[in-house]
Amino acid sequence: MYFEDQYLTDEQRMMRDTSRRYVDRVVIPFLAQNRMREWEMDPAARLAPHLLEEADAAGLRSLGVPERFGGVTLEAATASQTLALVATELARGDSGLADKLVQNWKIAVLISRFAPEDLQEYWFTRYMAEPQFLMAHCLTEPAGASDRWLPYSVPEVNMNTTAVLDGDTWVINGRKQFISNGYDASLYVVYANTNDALPMSTGTSSFIVGRDTPGFEVTRCNETIGGRYMNNGEITFTDCRVPAANLLVRDDALAQAGIYFRPGKVLVAAKSLGIGLGAYEETVKFVHERVQGGRVLIKHQAVASRIADMATRLEAVGALLRHAARAVDEYSPDADVLCNMVKVFASHEIVTVCQHAMELHGGYGAMLEVGIEKYMRDALINLHSDGTTDVSNFKIVKAMFPESAGRYAGPEE
Ligand SMILES: Cc1cc2nc3c(=O)[nH]c(=O)nc-3n(C[C@H](O)[C@H](O)[C@H](O)COP(=O)(O)OP(=O)(O)OC[C@H]3O[C@@H](n4cnc5c(N)ncnc54)[C@H](O)[C@@H]3O)c2cc1C
Repeated sequence: MYFEDQYLTDEQRMMRDTSRRYVDRVVIPFLAQNRMREWEMDPAARLAPHLLEEADAAGLRSLGVPERFGGVTLEAATASQTLALVATELARGDSGLADKLVQNWKIAVLISRFAPEDLQEYWFTRYMAEPQFLMAHCLTEPAGASDRWLPYSVPEVNMNTTAVLDGDTWVINGRKQFISNGYDASLYVVYANTNDALPMSTGTSSFIVGRDTPGFEVTRCNETIGGRYMNNGEITFTDCRVPAANLLVRDDALAQAGIYFRPGKVLVAAKSLGIGLGAYEETVKFVHERVQGGRVLIKHQAVASRIADMATRLEAVGALLRHAARAVDEYSPDADVLCNMVKVFASHEIVTVCQHAMELHGGYGAMLEVGIEKYMRDALINLHSDGTTDVSNFKIVKAMFPESAGRYAGPEE
């Protein structure tokens, strides 16, 4: 199976064991004792602080932060594969919490690659000192998200958020929505148009924006169906002035952000797999205990067949995930296509796995206090994040048939 020792390096085994211990000791007991807490309407009161503190103590928060600031640098040859393993383990506990941490890892990598040394020192020192410190990646706007994922490279799909250089500050105006960690992050990587004459791919820049910057405002926490501990949020920028030094990448920020996006898709798939594994484990336990027709459920062939189906789907997702993550680590030319494939495949397969879990639990499968329905809600979120199914599929086909499928459809007459 996906997690068996024979497939793993020593570092991966260690990271898997650390994250599994954390989930079994901290996350699962928290959820079991606080089933209704994700519905707390004050988002700040949802996740108990000790969950991030314990993740921090286990070294699971600082993946991607350079070692010179006290972070954990993974072996480069297997880094995406290892991150996928850890994200899977975390999502087996709670995918919203996994999201919180995954965002931090990806943004830490982005900052360590592009930020000047003094900014790295300032932000990473704060990050390492504050276990509740989170980071967010602000790309999506009220209009045009899928056009940008594809991406269509024409001026009319440029970012609506703009950044204009005024002396030694950039002035940012605009609005970002659906942002993971958006409600409670302390640091935001923000994408804005810096050259309207150019298409988005060459006229978009990225900036580091601290939460306490004047003109920056978190305007809402989105109430999502699942992944609720991630506290997805909306942000507005009104003449928000950031120092010129906070510019991360000028003009071709989106092209440079591949180090965020590629592992990003792998990590969405990994979170799907983790949700599926959690649902599977709970279901296997249940069908060995629950009796109907005079025997435990697993002895009924229709039930056994569903368990086999769940296991097969999990194994298939694990295999494609390993393949895609390795392609990223090896800089394979197939990496982009495989990342989109695994993101789509995993999200759909795991919804089916969760449906089996709900059905095999009978009425308990629908009860909030039991927690099986939560796997389904969490799984559904992954159909939408990091690009929708249809847009991701279109990217796969565009890569395979660039001449026929790759053309911009153009605005409606
Ligand atoms: C839980 C969650 C977390 C997220 N986290 C972040 C984050 O951290 N940062 C961030 O920047 N964004 C984030 N997003 C935003 C996410 O990337 C977008 O929601 C997604 O890209 C879709 O954009 P949209 O919602 O504007 O839908 P639209 O682009 O309006 O799509 C609507 C429908 O139209 C279809 N469609 C669009 N274009 C085409 C086309 N050319 N051909 C066929 N069908 C098409 C889509 O597939 C979809 O079915 C998150 C979203 C969710 C749900």
